[in-house]
Amino acid sequence: MEKTELQEWEDKCIQEEPPPCMTGCPIHVDARTFVKQVGLGKWEDALKTMAKTMPFPRILGRICDHPCESTCRRNEVGEAIAISALERACVETAREKVRGVMLPRKQTRVAIIGSGLASLTAAWDLVRKGYQVTVFEPTGRLGGNLWNYPESVLPPEVIAGELKLLEEIGATIELLSDISGSSRIATLRGEFDALFVGLDTVGVNCNGLERDDKGSVWCNVLTRGTSMEGVFAGGNSIRNGRPSPIYDVLDGRKAATSIDRYTMNINLENGRELEGPYPSRLYTNTSGISPLARVPAIGAISGYSVEEAMSEAGRCIQCECLECVKVCLYLDRNNGYPKKYARQVFNSEYVMFGRAHTKNLFVNSCSSCGLCETVCPNNFNVGEMMQRERRTFLKKEFMPPSFHEFALLDMEYSNSQRCALCRHEPGRDESAWLYFPSCQLSATTPLEIESSYAYLREKLEGGVGIMLGCCGAPARWAGRDDLFQEAQAAIRAQWERMGRPRVITACSTCRTLFQDNQPEMETHTLWELIGEHGLPPGHLTNNGATVSITDPCMARHDGETHRQVRSLARSLGFAINELPLSGEKAECCGFGGLMFNADPALAQDVVRHRTTAIDPPDTSYYQPTVMDNDYLAYCAMCRDNLAAGGKRTSHLIEQLFPAEGLGDPAGRGWISWTERRHNRAALRENILRQQGEPGGAGAEEHDRITLVMTEDVRRTADKRRILESDIKRVIDHAETSGRKLHNATSGVYRGYLKFGNVTFWVEYTPVEGGYRVHNAYCHRMNIVGTKL
Ligand code: SF4
Ligand code: SF4
Ligand code: SF4
Repeated sequence: MEKTELQEWEDKCIQEEPPPCMTGCPIHVDARTFVKQVGLGKWEDALKTMAKTMPFPRILGRICDHPCESTCRRNEVGEAIAISALERACVETAREKVRGVMLPRKQTRVAIIGSGLASLTAAWDLVRKGYQVTVFEPTGRLGGNLWNYPESVLPPEVIAGELKLLEEIGATIELLSDISGSSRIATLRGEFDALFVGLDTVGVNCNGLERDDKGSVWCNVLTRGTSMEGVFAGGNSIRNGRPSPIYDVLDGRKAATSIDRYTMNINLENGRELEGPYPSRLYTNTSGISPLARVPAIGAISGYSVEEAMSEAGRCIQCECLECVKVCLYLDRNNGYPKKYARQVFNSEYVMFGRAHTKNLFVNSCSSCGLCETVCPNNFNVGEMMQRERRTFLKKEFMPPSFHEFALLDMEYSNSQRCALCRHEPGRDESAWLYFPSCQLSATTPLEIESSYAYLREKLEGGVGIMLGCCGAPARWAGRDDLFQEAQAAIRAQWERMGRPRVITACSTCRTLFQDNQPEMETHTLWELIGEHGLPPGHLTNNGATVSITDPCMARHDGETHRQVRSLARSLGFAINELPLSGEKAECCGFGGLMFNADPALAQDVVRHRTTAIDPPDTSYYQPTVMDNDYLAYCAMCRDNLAAGGKRTSHLIEQLFPAEGLGDPAGRGWISWTERRHNRAALRENILRQQGEPGGAGAEEHDRITLVMTEDVRRTADKRRILESDIKRVIDHAETSGRKLHNATSGVYRGYLKFGNVTFWVEYTPVEGGYRVHNAYCHRMNIVGTKL
């Protein structure tokens, strides 16, 4: 990934952008952190936060005209945080003195005329940057207009105490200085390397500086430069018709930056767009936040008491975005947000060997569901970023096969002679339509597919062919473009051979991938056609039972299907209780992107959060919602995963074409990987038989073995992605080769066999007619020899 590309990804995520209170402050006080510290009663820390960007915080904290409050996002839900009153409470409560960092002394000399807030700020900033600063003040004390504030607002001892600091850090102060002469500015300019003129200074003679239409000294708004080179000016700021201390400070700060640049011969204007207030790019969702009015100040004469201030600070929303993290357990679990993740993913240091596994796991655990893109104000699609990275890993041979092997083998099985077929309708040699029910639906509801196929043949004209197989989604998610293209090319070739019929899909993933990769293929959904041609006769009736529809993540942009499915659900007698995350905000079930393969624990947690109300929640931002009623899915994997998590979930096809003898579809529960494979093969056999063809895929040698397994052992093996056929192969090998271990005490045998990259182990005992399996596990170790 090129640096510029990383930059593009990073720029999309605005989580690190400063909040509106900070960008609305002319000198960018980090009000969010400050308010948080006040809320925690950390007064010294809060004062330090103010002092990071604010000169003389004990003065300004009492008199700032707080433009930040008008940009505070709390305004949308109640009233703005009383930042100014909190600053006052802070400077009255915190005891420590704050001076900040000083840079080494330079030889460059700067003259400052006057000592109002603009002049004082310029002097303060320049001394701290190492300049030799001399302040020329016409009166007998520093502070200018500051002395005009009532004592109750700004006590004289506070002014004196704060301004003493200026001398203490090294400024030279010349009081009672005569600055009224007509050539005084020009003379000082000749004696010093640069000059700042405080425009609020009583008696200053600005002869030689050009004036604007209103008669004020003309200054460049960005740099505060005047018409005389090396002379800068500011102060006397008016905002909303009133003097503005904080804009005086901004003038002084801008001038100090310019003087710094000017004396070092650096361009005065470049890169200064974000000085002063600007609109924040940070997005903060305020929906769901209760409106709250300001805490009234009644406890102290001068403003908030300590308790009142802390309570007022508690109203702060602590603005941030994290919209994507709130809806994604994967993002929440990794303790960051996409901008940070983009840096981690592409930062070359992160690829160092020790951390390669962590990075691999991180890149491969995202379900590529795209929900982040939908909720992000800037459409950051983490899934897309991770998909790109998976391809890069493959190219660089970083990708361990373990992450996707099981899913790719499952896909291979679906497209093998055991499960795949493509035929015209029995008795016809042409197809106007082609039913592609998907490998996952074939794996879970084969009987319902047969019934739906019969329905389509009855309702549609011109012949309805059928194609069984996998659309290639697992390869795509695994970053295996080669395998994906191969699968799509095979489908395309068969579709061409069938005469380019209209394709009927029952899985949103297949449909999306066909639409994206086979633009000439006209696709329709099974749900759409049933909506058009009427409910099948044997459908279930639900008498107003409530369900929540779990839209598949791959259908998030398919509003038409969302509507059609809901309409069918209502026709089936359901009342719909919408999940907060549905339709275009649908959550993934943990199958997408092969999350379940790369990070089974995370995928299980996704299911757990979607099916069980966890109290107290074990997440930071992610807010799952579980409804008490049953769920209705129209994706086979959603149905299976949610059912495996214990949630009563049925598939729409089970409601429309209920299979005899299977009972309540929402009560069917989980379906093992072994059953899934068996179902796919059986569906093919049945369809071929209906066509008058022999099935003929044939059984393998080890298939004759009978296994006896408890439900627990079956579930454990299934979770470890060990198929019953794998177990049979191991036992067959152990028994025929004699290579097995025997535990003389328990009587249990242990056999092993490596196929593919994996070594499988099975603990078993022979029983009447078969073998009792006690345990099965696998790993990626090679057994290089046996010590007898
Ligand atoms: S709510 Fe808090 S963080 Fe947000 S803008 Fe206001 S003060 Fe700043
Ligand atoms: S799992 Fe989905 S929502 Fe979460 S980061 Fe990946 S694509 Fe985005
Ligand atoms: S939604 Fe996520 S990716 Fe988008 S800006 Fe917010 S934190 Fe960043």
